[in-house]
Amino acid sequence: MGGRYFVQNPGPTNIPDRVLEAFRRPAVDFADPDFIALAEGVWAELPELFGGADKIVVLTTVGHGAWESTLTNTVEPGETVLIPDCGLFGRRWARMARDLGYEVVMTEGHIRRPTDPAEIADILAADTAHRIKCVCIVHTETSTGAVTDLAAMRAAMDSADHPALFIVDGVCSLGIEPLRMRDWGIDVVVAASQKGLMMPPGLSFCALSERAVERNRSVATPRFHLAWEPRFEEGPIYNRFGGTPPIQHMFALRTALDMIAETGGIDASIARHRRWAAAVHAAVDGWASGGPWEINITEPKHRTAAITCVRTGDIAAGSLISTARDRFRVSVGSGMMAEMEGRAFRVGHLGDLNEPMLLGALGGLETAMAVLGLPHGHGLSAAVASLAATARP
Ligand SMILES: *Cc1c(COP(=O)(O)O)cnc(C)c1O
Repeated sequence: MGGRYFVQNPGPTNIPDRVLEAFRRPAVDFADPDFIALAEGVWAELPELFGGADKIVVLTTVGHGAWESTLTNTVEPGETVLIPDCGLFGRRWARMARDLGYEVVMTEGHIRRPTDPAEIADILAADTAHRIKCVCIVHTETSTGAVTDLAAMRAAMDSADHPALFIVDGVCSLGIEPLRMRDWGIDVVVAASQKGLMMPPGLSFCALSERAVERNRSVATPRFHLAWEPRFEEGPIYNRFGGTPPIQHMFALRTALDMIAETGGIDASIARHRRWAAAVHAAVDGWASGGPWEINITEPKHRTAAITCVRTGDIAAGSLISTARDRFRVSVGSGMMAEMEGRAFRVGHLGDLNEPMLLGALGGLETAMAVLGLPHGHGLSAAVASLAATARP
């Protein structure tokens, strides 16, 4: 079947042709002054992308590698970390922390709202011995569609007067949701290349505050490749990447950063994602007027601009997902965790997109609903109306 394949998964996301082309450049010596200048230029720009980082570590791995790097560089085995249970990614992070030998405090699980800062404040206030060394918060929880209010989380930590590091999983929020490390006193943001940055998987980032760098110096956890401190040193670029630099990925990142800058910068990117999210929410509300469809996150203000998780009620989601993909070439994510497996789908609205791509994907989903005889109201036209109402001519 011809035509474009619509990647509407919440990662990996669409890769613009310009970014793909950047990968097609031949190998160069990593000590080549032009490559070093390109890498230094990217490095110099990254802190502002995170809203004011003190140092950036660039890792040739996926987001999980940046999680592991963050834990082993800031916590010692036997020490305690707080990781709220608000969806799959929080749970995986907690499992990793346990497997690495850390004590993990979790909150009672829920999947239809973000973590409540008041709950975190209570846990921290009760921890008078300051056993908790880090609070690890998933910003956009990609499995549920929730976004955590990081400013409120910072205020909650301050109200408990607790010294724990504030660590944020920004894998699915960088470039999509406001992320202000400096203003919100965030110590580490973990991010990856294949979501808002419009690249393939393979690069990840730890953006660090001065406090995180300081903690890193005193933490004795065994580590080598994922250690931060050798990567701070001036000197051979080989060491700053912990091995051979990912040369083509750096070319592609340069291009992705240029594209974000050329389209109005990070604030414009955030605004675009909000519009797309509103259109998808309108579509789901339209479908819901004639069927069991429901946005998983109940409160509109708790919904991320990156992805919408749609519950399918008593309808098995699998055939809708496979019909949309195999017949109409629209790929969306499936429902995650025992709570939503087979009973939800997730529409990503992040990365390299425009209105017709989004409408194409929503139209493909709606056509699949019709083909399968699934009850639904008019979603596509509601999305058109939403986009039209917020468009600048
Ligand atoms: C995608 C994602 C991850 C995992 O990233 P990988 O690159 O697959 O390791 C972690 N956290 C969140 C919130 C994500 O969306």
